[in-house]
Amino acid sequence: MKEVFVHPDFTRVGHCQAILEEAGIACFIRNESTQNLLAGLPDSSALPVLCVTEDGDAPRAMELLHDFNTSEQQTADAENSVEWKCPQCGETVPGNFGSCWKCETPRPVL
Ligand SMILES: [Zn+2]
Repeated sequence: MKEVFVHPDFTRVGHCQAILEEAGIACFIRNESTQNLLAGLPDSSALPVLCVTEDGDAPRAMELLHDFNTSEQQTADAENSVEWKCPQCGETVPGNFGSCWKCETPRPVL
């Protein structure tokens, strides 16, 4: 048993588990306590941890997850270059702005 991925977002860890299973790597998620996450409490001891059953699968698993996380980062970068519309005042705001330049309303989470 070896830990290969830890992330506070349980959905993301579950997605990674699906990727590994698709590749034929036996894995499971530990610390599936979502109570603290739902309450918004960052408790590192309750973070979901993705583990592979066989230590020998760990390098391959990390490689797969690295590819996944890298491609997702690129997607996020592309999204950052897209303009968004302020829900408060309706102004068009450049994608690299975290909040409206006019009324300072934070960028809505998609
Ligand atoms: Zn605004």
